[in-house]
Amino acid sequence: MYNSNEQEQEILKFWEKDKTFEKSVSERPENKPYVFYDGPPFATGLPHYGHILSSVIKDVVPRYWTMKGYRVRRRWGWDCHGMPIENLVEKELKISGKKQIEALGVDKFNETCRSKVLTYTHEWKKMVDRVGRWVEFDNAYKTMDPTYMESVWWALKTIWDKGLIYEGRKVLMYCPRCETPVSKAEIAMDNSYKDIEEETVTVEFKVKNPERYGLPTDTYILAWTTTPWTLPGNVALAVGDDIEYVVCQTDGAANSYICAKDRAEVIFGDSTYRIERTIKGSSLVGIEYEPLFNIPAIVATGKKAWYVTSADFVTTEEGTGVVHTAVVYGEDDYNLGLKVGLPVVPLLDSKGIFNEEAPSLIQGQYFKKAEKIIKEDLEARGILFKKENFIHSYPHCWRCDTQLFYNAISAWFIDIQRIKGRLIELNQKINWFPEHLKEGRFLNILETAPDWNISRNRYWATPLPFWKCECGHTMCIGSVQELKEKVVNFTEVYKTNKVEEMDLHKHLMDKLKIKCDKCGQKVNRISEVIDCWVESASMPFAEFHYPFENKELFENRFPGEYIGEYIAQTRAWFYYMHAMATLLFDEVSFKNVVCTGTILNEKGEKLSKSKMNYTDPWAIIGQYGADALRYYLMTSVVMEADNLYFNDREVKEVYNKVINILWNVVVFYQTYGGEYNKEIKANESESILDKWILAKLNLLLKEVTEQMDNYNTVKAGRPIKDFIDDLSTWYLRRSRDRFKGGDEQDKQNALATMHTVLLTLAKVMAPFTPFIAEKVWLELSSKKTSVHLEAWPKVDRGLINEKLLAEMVLARKVVELGLAARAEAGIKVKQPLQYICYQTDGLSEQLERIVAEELNVKEVRRSTEIRVEKNLIVKDNANVCVGLNTIISEELRNEGLAREFIRLINLKRKELNLTVSDRAVVFFRTDSVELQQAIASNTAEISRRTLVQSISLTQDLVGVKEEVGDSAVVVKVERP
Ligand SMILES: [Zn+2]
Ligand SMILES: [Zn+2]
Repeated sequence: MYNSNEQEQEILKFWEKDKTFEKSVSERPENKPYVFYDGPPFATGLPHYGHILSSVIKDVVPRYWTMKGYRVRRRWGWDCHGMPIENLVEKELKISGKKQIEALGVDKFNETCRSKVLTYTHEWKKMVDRVGRWVEFDNAYKTMDPTYMESVWWALKTIWDKGLIYEGRKVLMYCPRCETPVSKAEIAMDNSYKDIEEETVTVEFKVKNPERYGLPTDTYILAWTTTPWTLPGNVALAVGDDIEYVVCQTDGAANSYICAKDRAEVIFGDSTYRIERTIKGSSLVGIEYEPLFNIPAIVATGKKAWYVTSADFVTTEEGTGVVHTAVVYGEDDYNLGLKVGLPVVPLLDSKGIFNEEAPSLIQGQYFKKAEKIIKEDLEARGILFKKENFIHSYPHCWRCDTQLFYNAISAWFIDIQRIKGRLIELNQKINWFPEHLKEGRFLNILETAPDWNISRNRYWATPLPFWKCECGHTMCIGSVQELKEKVVNFTEVYKTNKVEEMDLHKHLMDKLKIKCDKCGQKVNRISEVIDCWVESASMPFAEFHYPFENKELFENRFPGEYIGEYIAQTRAWFYYMHAMATLLFDEVSFKNVVCTGTILNEKGEKLSKSKMNYTDPWAIIGQYGADALRYYLMTSVVMEADNLYFNDREVKEVYNKVINILWNVVVFYQTYGGEYNKEIKANESESILDKWILAKLNLLLKEVTEQMDNYNTVKAGRPIKDFIDDLSTWYLRRSRDRFKGGDEQDKQNALATMHTVLLTLAKVMAPFTPFIAEKVWLELSSKKTSVHLEAWPKVDRGLINEKLLAEMVLARKVVELGLAARAEAGIKVKQPLQYICYQTDGLSEQLERIVAEELNVKEVRRSTEIRVEKNLIVKDNANVCVGLNTIISEELRNEGLAREFIRLINLKRKELNLTVSDRAVVFFRTDSVELQQAIASNTAEISRRTLVQSISLTQDLVGVKEEVGDSAVVVKVERP
């Protein structure tokens, strides 16, 4: 058995000592780069299965292109800024929210972030190393490096100069705990929607002056909401122009109600109701109603409020067909409010608490908590029509799990709408794997992309380089140099002139004052920092401090050749990289992208550390090795962007059927490999088996090369397993006797072929299973250098003998049917039979001999017709038919017994650990005359196949009795 864990640890030591990775980069020509971009992971979390998958795909492809002769620089990066680390530090400092951070001091807060940001580096390095990923880990770029931050400023300034950045108010999903907007991409990324059960309400809005519209006194419009806390902010009700509404009365109630006709049955349920009138939505527009709550601030805006308007987002799919509109707290609401000029009065503060504009009964309450009070109040006033429990999917903060709400906040945006056409055009130049993402998911993301909100109301990130003067003029700074020129107090804050030594974070930036270009006043920086996706999208140039340094170097390395990540990054890193490259360079960011799916557990559940609903990857690696895990992942559906239901048994199967079988072949070869004289070359052999395995080998090489060129690791990887199976269960099985000798020429042919096959196979497997590939190579190659420094082998098309490949398929078919016939007759393969006949295209003489050996028959005959007859078992499938003769003559029976005797001796040789050069002596005793005869008449054959000097019948031999055929026998094998 191949001990993966042990062997892989040894290989890791070899690589480290040999500096193999460094050599694999430096030995390739500098002017032939293959540009790989590594997307920076957050440094604040521990690596999980998803990261292992990313690491593997980021290793397999670069190893392949390295072997193809390219220089593949691989530099690790860390995403250091943003909410993940801020949350961690808040927890650690036992503070929460912006007020407490500011009370502590932003400088202290930021310094703590800096000191904690690389906490888990060690865990990451351990994972990356153990899975065999080669990357410059210690030389990582960090998004918090001042040089990196300066490049990000340059990017924003360039976009600013193009007139594509604006300040606006937008309704965004907002986390009251983190006190920051959360982007749609972030919400979509980790599927932050959760099903929650809430009490929804249908509320009655009393129509003012109903007689004016010909409505009965006491008419109420019904509106439904899943978020009762937004009711105090209600300023309008929206209806659909073309929707039909009804005025209804219910038995026993004096009131009349308005709702959509299609919803009436659901709303009134069992109670009987009468439709008094039907009205088109457009006729309801303009009706005024009494506000649910008195909000003086809304009246104070002077804008018209509390009336019916129409909107195209209204449907009759749920609710009442009337939408309660609270401008600030919904995306549709806000757009409608802008369109018709509704008052915008926020009632929540930045922490989600009702402010002093809110009705006094809920002031100071957290928005979710206030819902109960609001409902009780409406109920007491008799205008709560109905309460119902309702399960709906609601977004939560991806970092702190708090329920988000929509909030209209002031923010800075990159105008994506103006470059959208170009984003879509440039997507044509990208090769996506899987391909359907290009015109599917990614195109859709581009088409529906909102403007990019680049500002965050937080602390630990690159500060937004905007200085906004009271006179209305805003200045954007694009470099430290420009900053020095414009800032009036630069030397008070910075004592150095070197960018690398400056701390450009918020707590220092906020101290810098700029003189306004327009009016000469001193101006403070706006307080926001930059969305960290701006930073990760800047990595192709920011890691080089472009354009301040390494101009040529960057230009030669842009666009990138390859990136790879999991599917959620289509909305995030992939999208932002694409947007940034389009904005800055009018070019794609990357030419090829591989998108993986998500790993779930066997039952299809999300992997959860707290539930421990999956096997720890370290246990898997310890048991089956990183090679098996890598190969499993690379050949699974997860590489086609599908969900993988991770199954430990399938990793085990890879270990058994790929890694261990290959190792058994290597061990077999090594048993005889010492006798290989190296004078004969593989392709000189006339043996049909040798020709066949070389044809298979080149076919494999051709397939792997074509598929890897196309970034399809599934189609590239799977044939490797099939090849190893062919190599072991057919080539080696049928060649066993050739290796053992007899025909020296043929033995040398077999050795030469196996040697070539294993060395080439090691190269082909190197990107996928780098450890065993290295092991095989180091064991068998005359060179003592790594397989990963080798060139990718070239396909020898001349060796792909299609005719032979087809014939071998037939021959194996005959064997398969022959074995089935034997099984049906209940005759063991060890018992020789006289003949098998087959009906198909003719097989060559060599192939017939191979079939004969495999089936243990004396003859293989081709027939034009095979009929069922006595002692002939017939088997067939689509294009092959065989007939197996089952008559066992005395001679055949003797041979069969001899075979069993051979097996017994060989077992004992194994127990004694005899090697191929130990010619043993054998003693035996049996009372069976039949067995004595069988042995006597096959002595030569037995000796040859058991490598023994002599076989003697010894009457006084004592020992354990064993069975050969139906006879008892005592056998003793001794060293010579
Ligand atoms: Zn949050
Ligand atoms: Zn000014």
